[in-house]
Amino acid sequence: MNPAAFSSLHLKTPMLKNLHSLGYAEMTPVQAHSLPLILAGKDVIAKAKTGSGKTAAFGIGLLTHLEVASLGVQALVLCPTRELADQVGKELRRLARFTENIRILTVCGGVPFGPQLSALQHGAHVVVGTPGRLLDHLRRESLDLSSLRTLVLDEADRMLDMGFQEDIAALIAAIPPKRQTLLFSATYPDSITEMSAEIQHEPVEVSVDEAH
Ligand code: ADP
Ligand code: MG
Repeated sequence: MNPAAFSSLHLKTPMLKNLHSLGYAEMTPVQAHSLPLILAGKDVIAKAKTGSGKTAAFGIGLLTHLEVASLGVQALVLCPTRELADQVGKELRRLARFTENIRILTVCGGVPFGPQLSALQHGAHVVVGTPGRLLDHLRRESLDLSSLRTLVLDEADRMLDMGFQEDIAALIAAIPPKRQTLLFSATYPDSITEMSAEIQHEPVEVSVDEAH
């Protein structure tokens, strides 16, 4: 069997059909290297270029692990900017088509609080957003992270460059330690290695340098 085939992963049929309908014929290199680990529940630290398909790598993993019957934020994706969070939210919604009623919210700064408050009150399985605004919601108790099982730091190097380290630490303090933590970064400065050591449990490193 083609090792890059999505069908080698034991995904549920609706997810496989959806990937096919999206035109995702086979896994990109970062997906082929990280998805088996992610689906096995391991913490992964992955380095790969822009455009290599990192969103689907963590997205397929977190969507597969959701318990749709229990509402409560089970997966949180932290992104450096509103634009990136919007892109990730869109890609997750595309990946979740046909897979029951999964609620995915995007919660970022620079937009009014009101609609976010009512959306969060309604409940969500997955929240994607920027650290500052998410921390505001956590402090106002409009965001409850006590049911979280998957934490994703997307473009972690950029988040550190933008000064989000303390906000991220405050968010993580509210997340149960028994969780899967996935860290994606285009570069591996020492600050990323240190952060990984603090927030991940026996992380497996995946590095893919060529773009697909
Ligand atoms: P990254 O986060 O690594 O910069 P993205 O997750 O934004 O990359 O993906 C880049 C593009 O590749 C997106 O348009 C996405 O829909 C597409 N893509 C992702 N995985 C696959 C795949 N397996 N086959 C084809 N296209 C894919
Ligand atoms: Mg990305």
